[in-house]
Order: sequence, then C-alpha cells, then structure tokens
Amino acid sequence: MSFDDSNVESLRERLRAIEAQLADRNNHVARLERAIKEMEQKVKEASETQQPASEISEMEETLKRMVMRVAMILQASKCMFMIYDADNRELFAETPALGFEDEQVKGFRVSVDGTLSGECFRENKPVILYDAETDERAMAEGLAGIGVKNGLCVPLIVERRDEETAKLIDRKTIGVLHVFNKRYGNIFIEDDVQLLERMAKNTAAIINMAESYRQVVKERDEAIETIQSLSMGLLMVNKGGRITQMNNSALRIFGLKKDELHGGKTFDQVIKDEKVIDLLKRALSTDGEVADELTLSDPDSPEQVHTFQIQSAGVRTDTGEVIGTAAIFNDITEIKNVDKMKTAFVSTVSHELRTPLTSIKGFISTLLQDTEGFYDNETRHEFYTIIDTECDRLRRLIDDLLNVSRIESGKVLELNVADVDLRKVTEKAMRIQDSSTYKRENHSLAYEIDPEVPATIEADQDKIEQILANLVSNALKYSPKGGEVKVSARMMGPEMVQFGISDQGMGIPKEHLTKMGERFHRVDNRDTREIGGTGIGLFLVKNLVEFHHGKLWVESEVGKGSTFFFTLPTTQPEDTGEGGSLASRVAG
Ligand code: ADP
Repeated sequence: MSFDDSNVESLRERLRAIEAQLADRNNHVARLERAIKEMEQKVKEASETQQPASEISEMEETLKRMVMRVAMILQASKCMFMIYDADNRELFAETPALGFEDEQVKGFRVSVDGTLSGECFRENKPVILYDAETDERAMAEGLAGIGVKNGLCVPLIVERRDEETAKLIDRKTIGVLHVFNKRYGNIFIEDDVQLLERMAKNTAAIINMAESYRQVVKERDEAIETIQSLSMGLLMVNKGGRITQMNNSALRIFGLKKDELHGGKTFDQVIKDEKVIDLLKRALSTDGEVADELTLSDPDSPEQVHTFQIQSAGVRTDTGEVIGTAAIFNDITEIKNVDKMKTAFVSTVSHELRTPLTSIKGFISTLLQDTEGFYDNETRHEFYTIIDTECDRLRRLIDDLLNVSRIESGKVLELNVADVDLRKVTEKAMRIQDSSTYKRENHSLAYEIDPEVPATIEADQDKIEQILANLVSNALKYSPKGGEVKVSARMMGPEMVQFGISDQGMGIPKEHLTKMGERFHRVDNRDTREIGGTGIGLFLVKNLVEFHHGKLWVESEVGKGSTFFFTLPTTQPEDTGEGGSLASRVAG
C-alpha cells in the first residue's frame, strides 16, 4: 500500500472525525455525570427529610422526572420499573412509566419464574433483550404485546449504610428497572449496562422511599377509614389541646360539621359541653387515661338525653412520651334503658304475682277458718270462683313470662296452622272479656266483621285468641272510666285481614307510640301506675302477629282513646315445620 497525498488527507479527515466524535462523547459523558450527580443530590435531600416527601404528588413528580431522565440518558423510548410482591412471587409494574398508557402499567404483573424480568430479579444481574419476538423469556412475559422490541433490564438494589462508617448494613433487591426500544433503530449493548446499573442505584433508593411512603399513606388511609366507620365517637386531641382527629360519630354527638374543625381548632373552641371539656382537660393533665360516664343531650333533638361511657387513653410516641389523648364515646343509652326497664319489670312482676296470690290466700284462709259453716253454699261458690279466676290470672302471667323468655332466647315458637273461623274466635274473645276484672258497668263491648272477610283464614287459633284477649283486655284496662271497646275486621287488599281494637280510654302519649310492643315498655304516669301491668302483653302480641307474617301498629290520642291495628294474611307460607305445623324463628 502506498501513501500518497490523498491517502494522507483522507486519514487526517478520519482522525479529525474521530477526534470530534471523542469530544462529543466526552461532552455526553460529562452531561451524564452532571445528571447523575443531580440525581444523587435529590436522593440525599429526600432521605434527609424525615418524611420521604411531604406530599405523595411531589414523590410522583420526582419519580416521573427520574424515569424520563433514565430514558433520555439511555436513549430509550420506553422506561418502566417493577416491584417485587413476595406474597405472590410476582413482579408488578408501577406508575409512573414512560412510553406506556397508565392502564397498561397498572395491569402488568409477571411471575418471577420463567420471565425475563424474573431472571434479572432472581439472579440479581442485568439482562439484555435483543428481540422481544423471539426471546422465550420475553415472550413468557408478553413484552411484545406492550410494544417492546428490545430492552435492557437491571435489578433495583437498595443498600443501607451506616451513617458514620459508610459500612454496608443491609442490601436487598426490591424489583427491576427496564429500558426498552433503543432509539434510532439501535439495540442496547454492554456499555449501556454499566450506565443503567449506576442509575438504578439512585432510582432504587427513590423508588424504595416512594414505596414505603405509599405504604404509610395506605395504612394511614385504612386507619382513618376504620376510625370513621366506628359507631362509637372518637376524638383525638394533642398536648396543646388541638383536635387532630374526630370521626363522623363524634361530629354527630357534638352536633358539629367537619368544616368547623378547620384551622387547627382546640377542643374547647368547638365543644360546648363543660363536662366533656373538663374530662379532656383531666385526660391531658394526666397520662391521658380517664374513664367516666356522662349524659349529653342530642344536638338534633335537645329533649333527648344520651348516656355515654367515655374512655380515654394516652397517645404515645415510640419512646413512650404522651403527646395527646384519644377518647372514645360509647352511647350506652339503650343498655341503660333496658337495665332500668328490667328493674322496673322485676318490681311490677312481683307486684302482679302478689296481687292474685294475696287474694287466693285470703279466700282460702277464710274458707279454712270457717269450721262452723258460717258461709252458705252460694257465698262459698263465689269464693271458689274468685280463687279460680285468680289462679287463671296467675297462670296467664306465668305463661306470658315463659313465652317472653322463649322469644328472647330465639327459640322456635310453633304455629299450629289450621283453618280458623275469625267470627267464632272474635265472639269467644268478647265473651271471655265480658267477665274480665277490668270490665266496668259503663263499658260496652262490640264487634263488627266485614262480610268481605273470608269465613276462615290459615292461622294458629290459640295464638289469635291470645292476641285478641290481650288487646281487648288492654282496651278495657286502660279506659277505666268506661266507654265502648270495639273489635272490627275488614279486608286490606285481597289477601290480608286487618283487625282494629278501639277504645275511648286514656290514650297513649305521642312519644310512646313507636315504642309500643317493645318488651317491658310501659307508659309511666299516675294512671298507668295505678292500673298496674308488666309491659309484656304487647311484646307478646307483636311477636305473635309477626309469627303470622302480619304487622301491629297503633293510633292514639291522649284523653280520647286508642286503636290497635294488626294484620293477618289469609294464607300462611308453605309448611316449614313438621306434622302440619309451621315454625317461625324469631330474629335477633
Ligand atoms: P301492661 O298492660 O302489662 O303494662 P302491655 O304490654 O299490654 O303491658 O302494654 C304496655 C303499655 O302500653 C301499657 O303499660 C300501657 O302504658 C300501654 N297501653 C297498652 N294498651 C293500651 C291502651 N289500649 N290504651 C292506652 N295505653 C295502652
């Protein structure tokens, strides 16, 4: 080969070109170095702040910029990172990614076994993908399906070092970082591996922080959701008295709106009740723990008073320092009421049992003492009749008590369903009540059954008799000044009979109307106290009606009288019990 001028010239030109390329490359490397430095600074800044980023959106922005920078530096048109899910042995893609739709990213999940991403993760080493359409590992992952042609994948490794000695404390692989589709039709080469690995270190640190931040936010959101859904009121106050948390139930208890808490209000600025303020002050001045019982009036209807059991506990830091108090407000009004009712019930039942017993005992003693035959036969018969009636009263009371306890314990009450002649049953009930102890001379009893009501309906005769006996007896009992007690029945639609038992008695105050039929519930005033009772009759009636798939309700006006209504279907649903009887279970 001879070197003539033109050869030398062309060689010089090539040298100049190489020099220019080298300068270019140096510039490129310098740019990369700067970019990496910048990123390292970001990671440092982020890890220095206590919380990874004050807002999750800020974290997302950092991640987005980082993904773009990685793609730019590696000249890739797509970039995506995947996180390891140990529970399912899978890697899943996370947003933000470059060159993919968000939906594509969110649904992208691959097994750790048999896939390209999995191999990179498992073996903790980079993998270059030359052709997504022929590489089996890429095919197992469906990379071509999301527009991938070629790529490079490196593990995302998080290292934890001792702050002083910089010695490595912990090292774990949290996922993989992908760049795909090298620009200008090129493929990724060994040179790119080193570059991406270096970037992956910082990327891993940021992603790791973002992941733990997301986890913290998720846990916090879940905790808030749980607190919000509590039926108990929950109030958290910090040492300075500022409300840090108040759930919906607590807002309701204190009659507050959420926006009234804005601006870091202290509890004594929003809570009006002195007793609650005092309790919270006590909690804050001690170690946060106070237990008490308070009554508060309902903010929506101030005449209603609720009893709350309040328990507060200190909110502590990891080191045990008390930084506030968390108080739970548990509404125990219902429990208290049942307690009160039970106490009242025991005393009324004792009274109700004692009355017939006293009378039985009195008449028997009288008869026993009469050894000389002072009383004639007629008088004796009268005494025996009274004893007999009082024994019936006692038996009824005990039967009622037994039925209540049966219903209470959720036992099955059997309905012996047969064709019941409503006219006959009503007539019988009226006849029996005509000799009731509550029947006065100025009472009149009447009944009227509409001709449309069928001759018979499917029901349990004994129970229908019990329902009518209770309601008619109450009608007489609670109209001590007399008046008409009338039973009427008519059709309500083609398959429902509606009964009404009306009286012209004392009536029922409005606030008690919805409570009629609750166990042990009695209207407590001078008149009803004089009359006496246990508050279980209507509870039984309501249950017996409901066993028949009917309903009980009442309309009443104080001083004018009441009408108790109940419905009965003409037929009962298919037999669910044995031997032709239908069994219904009492709910709750
Ligand atoms: P008791 O009569 O043994 O107290 P009930 O369960 O039969 O129990 O009735 C519950 C309460 O409902 C009664 O205490 C009474 O206050 C009220 N009540 C029931 N029926 C009537 C009525 N017809 N008129 C007025 N008040 C009634």
